[in-house]
Amino acid sequence: MSISVVQKDVKALVEDLNFAEKVERALGLIREAYEEFGDRLVVANSLGKDSMVVWHLAKRVSPDIRGFIVTTRFKPQETKDFMRKLVAEHPELQVYENSQPIPERLYETDPDRCCELLKVEPTRQAIREMDVACWVTGLRCTEGRTRTDFQEVEERDKGLIKLNPILIWHEREVWQYLALHDVAVNPLYGEGYRSLGCAPCTHITADPDERAGRWIGTSKCGGECGIHTKPLVTDYQI
Ligand code: SF4
Repeated sequence: MSISVVQKDVKALVEDLNFAEKVERALGLIREAYEEFGDRLVVANSLGKDSMVVWHLAKRVSPDIRGFIVTTRFKPQETKDFMRKLVAEHPELQVYENSQPIPERLYETDPDRCCELLKVEPTRQAIREMDVACWVTGLRCTEGRTRTDFQEVEERDKGLIKLNPILIWHEREVWQYLALHDVAVNPLYGEGYRSLGCAPCTHITADPDERAGRWIGTSKCGGECGIHTKPLVTDYQI
């Protein structure tokens, strides 16, 4: 682990810091990491609200910061349209997609395998091809049961730093930042979605858990696609 952030009690920070302090902390984390890793710091942009905050924060640190988007054949049309517009505005965002054939309705029969093929492997490819030393994500510890145990700075894969600069933000603070800075978001949020993924695996719910609408009806319900939990640095080539 290289960047010098002191790992604190994340759960305490969620409640102890106010919105402005969280923004400053996030900017400071990105700034420090960018000073250390330079062009090898890359933002993972999932096109969701949290990624749009992190992308905006990163651009405040330096307009030169690059990013990547992992998309799949199953993303909703609204997300595909949103992505096209964003990439047109930001050609420094590279898009990765695995278009190899997969079994039909794999998302129903084996969603873990489907996510491994369509999300995790293109993420590995992005990290390899963009020569990433530090990737920046929009992960937040208040999103749901699977996200409570992360840190702001991690080294889950040896030699690859993962920075989660808005880890301690509430959902409300994400919307507060987006509104204050007039940042465009995926129009699907206007329909009631709170967490966006592939169309077959993403639903609107009234559940308090922000990620409860993900993979409903499967063992993966409310869970993870794997990019935050599986090894990303491998010799595997897609
Ligand atoms: S979210 Fe669903 S459709 Fe998308 S990769 Fe995962 S299992 Fe497949």
